[in-house]
Parts: sequence; structure tokens; C-alpha cells
Amino acid sequence: MYCSWCSNPEGQLLRPRVMYREKKCLPTHHRCIDMCPNNAIHLKDGSPYLRFDRSICDRCESFDCVGACFKQALSIAGRYYAVDELMRILKRDQGFWGGEGGVTFSGGEPLLQEEFILEVLKKCRANYMHTAVETSAYVETDFLMEILERTDWLFIDLKHMDSAVHREETGVGNELILKNLEAVAIARGEKRLVIRVPIIPGFNDDAENLQATAEFVRALNLNEVNILPFHRLGRSKYEQLGLEYKFAHQAAPSKETMLATKHIFESVGLQCYIDFETPF
Ligand code: SF4
Ligand code: SF4
Repeated sequence: MYCSWCSNPEGQLLRPRVMYREKKCLPTHHRCIDMCPNNAIHLKDGSPYLRFDRSICDRCESFDCVGACFKQALSIAGRYYAVDELMRILKRDQGFWGGEGGVTFSGGEPLLQEEFILEVLKKCRANYMHTAVETSAYVETDFLMEILERTDWLFIDLKHMDSAVHREETGVGNELILKNLEAVAIARGEKRLVIRVPIIPGFNDDAENLQATAEFVRALNLNEVNILPFHRLGRSKYEQLGLEYKFAHQAAPSKETMLATKHIFESVGLQCYIDFETPF
């Protein structure tokens, strides 16, 4: 999925990407241009600042430009981990988590890395680590069932009830997601399953859609909904990746809007909490 409000666009490709912060750049020597083996960096028209040919950079393996920059204007978003390498890091930190700590797999979309997450979840359980997975659920149903089996908590996004509107802003229809929600709602037993609804102004925040969403969740016999107000914390990442950000000037929903949204979910008997406030 490619949600147009995404706050982690660097996670939408399954590979590390170079990011360029123009504000930190001191373009007097252009060491990065000299070091790039692929001739992918050019000057912006009439400017000493840089333009990256993303069709080349998004296939780069060396990232030589990053090491050439002494101003930290260039960085690499993302890196590869082997399962055991990640487990070593988690185990190192496990002692600091306290009784309520654990591991949350988020994104981007953690279920894009199918074999990897299944293996890490298996090892987390073997090491007595509590786990939570946050996903769009736009995956094969059988795979989602395996995730449900291996994690302690599952958070699933529900972005819009109308498939055509859903497709406009995410790139895909919602049929598979609704089908998967029905499947995991039946199979979850006592396991915690939370529905997450990002509240995106002008996309899904109309009363009709919110009411339909609330009734759908209620009919699944679920009881927890977490609503997340749109924010623009990812805006600078779009600039650093040279991408357009459709929501660059969109204001966040007001507190009143979020409270009214919360009320819609509560009015059908759901427990609803805003943002990251804890339901406990
Ligand atoms: S990411 Fe690779 S191809 Fe792109 S500018 Fe840097 S070194 Fe060149
Ligand atoms: S090396 Fe760094 S500071 Fe110099 S031009 Fe490249 S990005 Fe800018």
C-alpha cells in the first residue's frame, strides 16, 4: 500500500534509501558528487544544491556519497538485519524493559518481510518476549493467521469502508483487509486485537464513514478502537527523499474533531482511545 499521508515514506521500498537534507548541506566542494560511482547527483538548476536521480539511487548498493559528506547532510534510511543479529540487540535490551515491556513490529509494513517476521516472532516467544504487530492486514489470510498465532497483540488499520475511496488514497481496495479482519476476529480467542483508524481530514473523517467503521468493528465482536489524528511529522522525510507530499499543508484534526470521532465509536459500545493514550 502507498497511503498518501504516510509518515514513513522511506519504508515503502524494501531497501535502504539515501536521504538528503538541504538545510545541512554546505555545497562548496561537492565531495559527494565526486564519490558517487553512478553519476547520480546533479546540481539543481541555478543552485549549488543537489538533485538526486532516484531511479539510480534506489538501486544503489554502495552509498559512497554518504561517507563523503562531512556535514551529515546525507544519510541512509534503513539497513539490513539478519534474524540472529536483531535477536542479539533485543536480548541485550530485554533486561531494561521492566515487567510490561516487549517488542513492537511496526513500519511501514512489517508483514512485507514474511519469512523474517515469522522467524523473529518465533524467537521472541522462545525468549519470553512479549510482542505486538502493527499492520495494514493487506496480506494473504493464511499468513495473517500465522502472525496472529505467533504474536501477543495485533493492531490492524482500518482506513476506509468504501473500497473505491480506499483505493484512491492507498492504492488498493479494502476487500482483502475486511475479509482478513473478519477472519482474525473469529480466530483470536482471548488474544488482544485492536483496530486502528488514522483520522485523515477529507479522506475518512466524515460521519458516514466513521459510523460505518464503528458498526463494522462492533459486528466483528471486537471492543477496542484506537484513533490516530493525522500529523505531518513525516513531512521533512518527503523533502529528503525528493518526493511530493500531498498532505504537506494539511492541518491536523482539532481536539474537538477527535473527541466527536471518539464519541461515534463509543456510541456503538466500543472502547475508544485517542492517539497513544493508554486504555489501561
Ligand atoms: S546513493 Fe549511490 S547512486 Fe545515489 S548518489 Fe549516493 S552513491 Fe550515488
Ligand atoms: S558532501 Fe555533503 S555538504 Fe558537500 S555537497 Fe554533498 S551533501 Fe552537501
